[in-house]
Amino acid sequence: MRRWNGWGEETVNYGVTEGARVFLAERIGPGHVPQDVSPEDMRALVPPSCLKEHPLIRTDIWERVLHSTGQSQADWINIRGGRVPAFPDGVAYPRNGGEVREILTFARQAGAVVIPYGGGTSVVGHLTVPLLERPVLTVDVSGMNALLDLDERSRLATFQAGVRGPDLEAALSKRGYTLGHYPQSFEYSTLGGWVAARSAGQYSFHYGKIERLLAGGVLETPRGTLILPAVPASAAGPDLREMALGSEGRLGIMTEAVVRVSPLPEKEVIKAAFFPDANMAYAAVRELAQSGLPLGMLRLSLPEETETTLRLSDPSRALAALEKWLKWRGAGEDKCLLLYGGIGRERTVNFALNEAWSIIKKHHGQGVGTAIGKAWRNNRFRLPYIRNDLWEMGYAADTLETAVNWLKVPATVEKIQASLREALRQENEKVHVFTHLSHFYAQGASIYTSYVFRLALLPEENIARWLRLKRAASEAIVQAGGTISHQHGVGLDHLPYLSAEKGTRGMEMIRSVCRAVDPEVMMNPGKLFVDGL
Ligand SMILES: Cc1cc2nc3c(=O)[nH]c(=O)nc-3n(C[C@H](O)[C@H](O)[C@H](O)COP(=O)(O)OP(=O)(O)OC[C@H]3O[C@@H](n4cnc5c(N)ncnc54)[C@H](O)[C@@H]3O)c2cc1C
Repeated sequence: MRRWNGWGEETVNYGVTEGARVFLAERIGPGHVPQDVSPEDMRALVPPSCLKEHPLIRTDIWERVLHSTGQSQADWINIRGGRVPAFPDGVAYPRNGGEVREILTFARQAGAVVIPYGGGTSVVGHLTVPLLERPVLTVDVSGMNALLDLDERSRLATFQAGVRGPDLEAALSKRGYTLGHYPQSFEYSTLGGWVAARSAGQYSFHYGKIERLLAGGVLETPRGTLILPAVPASAAGPDLREMALGSEGRLGIMTEAVVRVSPLPEKEVIKAAFFPDANMAYAAVRELAQSGLPLGMLRLSLPEETETTLRLSDPSRALAALEKWLKWRGAGEDKCLLLYGGIGRERTVNFALNEAWSIIKKHHGQGVGTAIGKAWRNNRFRLPYIRNDLWEMGYAADTLETAVNWLKVPATVEKIQASLREALRQENEKVHVFTHLSHFYAQGASIYTSYVFRLALLPEENIARWLRLKRAASEAIVQAGGTISHQHGVGLDHLPYLSAEKGTRGMEMIRSVCRAVDPEVMMNPGKLFVDGL
């Protein structure tokens, strides 16, 4: 069963090593473990539902609790501390587009607002239930998960949009295909959620972000059905597909998505190399990203993340020997870990990895084979479970991300990291901050920063700490000229910073497009822009 107030399956634990506990205590001090509310306490906080009965809608209390938050830091603090701002009045489970239309009609008649809910993995407050006089209906699309069509000649697959990552890949791999979209939330996140939040998978260098993979689909809006035709390319005016991408539930509910699939790869290899410092590593990854080589993935951990990764690993003789060898080869305290992978046809993979190696070598990279890459691949969906362990040790872990041009990458990394390290200085709290670059383009890269801070005993204090951190880093991103999000979206958390990027006219255009299909402001109000309801 899925955890109701944390990440993942109840039976899966990350298991933090003793070395990692000591490392964190040294960095930011021993954790204070706050008292979480029990399921019984949480149930007692849920008010009676304001919705009339409907055969597709459940109004039982636990169902409403389970759909009251996503996975943002505020969501965690609120659900664990018993201060969830509001609960949906009901949760609908449609099985197809017809039932979605029926639910939207019911919601309009009830004067309800509607929150589309995919896998519930949003990390920026997309799913936060607004406190309104109107009833709130969450529409959980997870029952809409079928593969409807596979056009092998055009390499297009049509899925119901509620399909989760593992089910999508299982259906495709049976037929010899893959979408190749692996966000770290893969276990639960859905195709519709990827589209609505403009998601990026770990192999985006090869397959592209979801915007490259989405060919078309069907969106049920409050004003009717919007069909997005799946053509290879088009010059027929603005691309409506682009409006569905990043729409965050505001335009309607995506019921079907047509995606561009690829044959299953013949070979998949991930290698690791270490660079003596960040400057050499930046130069190498920029050259790799601009080389046009058909690589599968790239992931560069900067020095603090490299050290954190090594300290979190099980201490072993092999690891100690590796670090000693690296030091001897010039990669000491400031070393940076690069993972670089090949995916696809065997000959292409071999060629890409060989060529990549010459670039890495030229920039003083030290190759260490495939063991670290294998371990990363095996653990990549297990790593998010560490957030449960850390909370139970008295620490909160959060992440944020942006993308900037190459010219700005190093300075932006420094600005973001410094802003977070300083954010809790007034209350004498330290913050452990580390960064990697995870999605690469000829023009620039995405910057992904993780930070760990100590929990206070009261949820209000934890929200205050997190807000200070989030504000500091978001302001640093805006000042650096980065996008407020490369992959997580806007939701509530990034909303105050969106107009800096889109400008007044841009915000008006976004609002007008949403109003055109949703004049009664039914769809996920308060996200992307303020509605003034
Ligand atoms: C541990 C963890 C790791 C993550 N790693 C990544 C990562 O590597 N890359 C990445 O891009 N993101 C990542 N995320 C963020 C999150 O998984 C993505 O934003 C994902 O796209 C959300 O999908 P979901 O199905 O869970 O959508 P939800 O969280 O349920 O919803 C997100 C938004 O999409 C809307 N929505 C959902 N389904 C539909 C639909 N069918 N029609 C219309 N609107 C819809 C919702 O209303 C909401 O506004 C991670 C999150 C977690 C918790």
